[in-house]
Amino acid sequence: MLVLLFDIDGTLISTGGAGLNALRATMREEFGIAEPNDVPVSGRTDRGIARDLFRAHELAETEAHWQRFLDSYLRHLADQLPRTRGRVLPGVASLLDALRGLERVRLGLLTGNVQAGARLKLRHYGLDSYFAFGGFGDRHADRDGVAAEALDASREHLPAETQPDRVWVIGDTPMDITCARSISARCVAVATGSFPREALEAYSPDLAVDNLDRLDHLLEVLVG
Ligand SMILES: [Mg+2]
Repeated sequence: MLVLLFDIDGTLISTGGAGLNALRATMREEFGIAEPNDVPVSGRTDRGIARDLFRAHELAETEAHWQRFLDSYLRHLADQLPRTRGRVLPGVASLLDALRGLERVRLGLLTGNVQAGARLKLRHYGLDSYFAFGGFGDRHADRDGVAAEALDASREHLPAETQPDRVWVIGDTPMDITCARSISARCVAVATGSFPREALEAYSPDLAVDNLDRLDHLLEVLVG
């Protein structure tokens, strides 16, 4: 059984800044920080981003702070998604439709989004029905932890006695490539996020593409 694990932001969709807006609104409303320090967000997990913001502003890294952050973030994200102009990235809808119809393929998520945030984003862009399982950014500050979670979830999701004979990660950042390697998965890197193709190629993905719109080529590589 072939397992394909998709990143969300920069790979399936661009939210047009909805996520960042929600982060900023959360820091302002919940923690009184009008101008949050820049922390890296591309390829990161929500848990890791929150931890870095707490550290940058000398807020205690407590479970209570995380829960406040999460509740506010999800509320603002739901509010922001319809107000920002995002899009499904090129080729994504056709690729997912083609893959969904294949008997020996299972589609999952490998995303730094918290699970509820991932569902909000995918539902808004009409993509939530493709993915039945995944690894998410609720617990892991490090993306490699999310990859391990996604692999575990895929094993639980497969029919009894079935093992994945191949696992692919499809993502838009160097961290997607390195986390794929951490679970011995193959990787397609796609340059529709914030990294150009040459920058991704430096991390030696199995394939680097400008976008996901060459359907036949992608199916050949992924499915064979
Ligand atoms: Mg991404």
